[in-house]
Amino acid sequence: MDDLSSFCCQNPDCSAYGLRGQDNLRVAFRYGRHQRRMLACRTCQHRFSERTGTALFGTRLPHAQALAVYQHLHDGCGVRQTARLTGVDKDTVVRYAAQAGTHARQSHDELVAFSPGNPRSPTR
Ligand SMILES: [Zn+2]
Repeated sequence: MDDLSSFCCQNPDCSAYGLRGQDNLRVAFRYGRHQRRMLACRTCQHRFSERTGTALFGTRLPHAQALAVYQHLHDGCGVRQTARLTGVDKDTVVRYAAQAGTHARQSHDELVAFSPGNPRSPTR
């Protein structure tokens, strides 16, 4: 049995959109050579990859190698150094870095939007 509690429906028109732990998701099937899970929402019948909404969505490198690219960038390695150490092309490193940056901005916006208001904030 797959633990899907960390996932949520990705359909903005669904009543369960963005809500985790609703028990509305199931594994529809597995796909690709890495056997990734295609999840389906029981509420709206929308299907989406388990990687939708993550920095790894659309990446084609093996999971461990993609994580190695992100880990090297996180540790402060430059693009060429990361490319050399992980064995991928420098353009791939740049593309992954841009994708991670977009994901980080979206995550920040989501987390800040739902964080408790700061009583000392000028906007309150
Ligand atoms: Zn849904």
